[in-house]
Amino acid sequence: MRNYNASPTEMNVDFTRTQVFMGAQQDLKNATHALFGMPYDGTCSFRPGTRFGPAAIRNISEGIETYCPLFDRDLEEVKFADLGDLILPPGAKDDAIEIIERAAADLFKQGVIPCGLGGEHLISLPLLRAAHKVHPELVLIQFDAHLDLRDDYLGTHLSHATVLRRITEFVSPARVLQVGPRSGTREEFQLSKKLGTYRDSSITPDALRNWVGDRPLYVTLDLDVLDPSILPGTGTPEPGGVTFATLEAWIRGLSGCKWIGWDVVELSPDYDVSQVSSVVSAKLVRSLLFSSSAPHC
Ligand code: MN
Ligand code: MN
Repeated sequence: MRNYNASPTEMNVDFTRTQVFMGAQQDLKNATHALFGMPYDGTCSFRPGTRFGPAAIRNISEGIETYCPLFDRDLEEVKFADLGDLILPPGAKDDAIEIIERAAADLFKQGVIPCGLGGEHLISLPLLRAAHKVHPELVLIQFDAHLDLRDDYLGTHLSHATVLRRITEFVSPARVLQVGPRSGTREEFQLSKKLGTYRDSSITPDALRNWVGDRPLYVTLDLDVLDPSILPGTGTPEPGGVTFATLEAWIRGLSGCKWIGWDVVELSPDYDVSQVSSVVSAKLVRSLLFSSSAPHC
């Protein structure tokens, strides 16, 4: 069993103390960014296991460099904390959602950028709820093999297959881009095109950057946007995805935007015995930390 230590943060939610992401501090003192895990996979439709994502990312992070030549930056230059994993009652979806929203709201209140590690994609719903309350003018970019626009999935309205549908009920679709989708129902694709949120993977980093402009930016990265040859460790792998270089260029293209938050979801590490999926995820967390901490321009 886990040892549930008291929160180190003065926040009104509880975290488990874990190994921290490479280079992170353990508390929020002077931090601009806060990593935290949400080990929840209660609605996974095909293969569960994303609850093990945050721990796998932290464990493997010791094996990557703090310096990134693409950004020419070092993690030592980023003031980021790793708060551990939120304590989420297993199977209790409504409670998990409520706790995640409370944690994110607390971080916004402290002026810290929430950097969420999933977990399945449903965890983005409470993160976006909290973000939207503080930044109603935010724009959202979703990198994902799926649109997640179903109205319900097997009778439930709250699922990783419906999460963007729920989010577009309070974030105007005019403020949402869905990049890289290649799997879903005909209705989802028709809806995405009708809403104007659909972008295929040919979109350039410059086009993404221009779309954001100087609006507050939240990015939700569903790792299955990558081709399964690069990241097989995910619940619903979809062949025909983008390369690591493409995804990293998109993220780098957003450097200097007014970032307000981001999350990385759907790593299911146990489906990849090579652990390369976890390495890929850790490097993307590093890239997101660099991009979201670059000076505004
Ligand atoms: Mn998704
Ligand atoms: Mn997906």
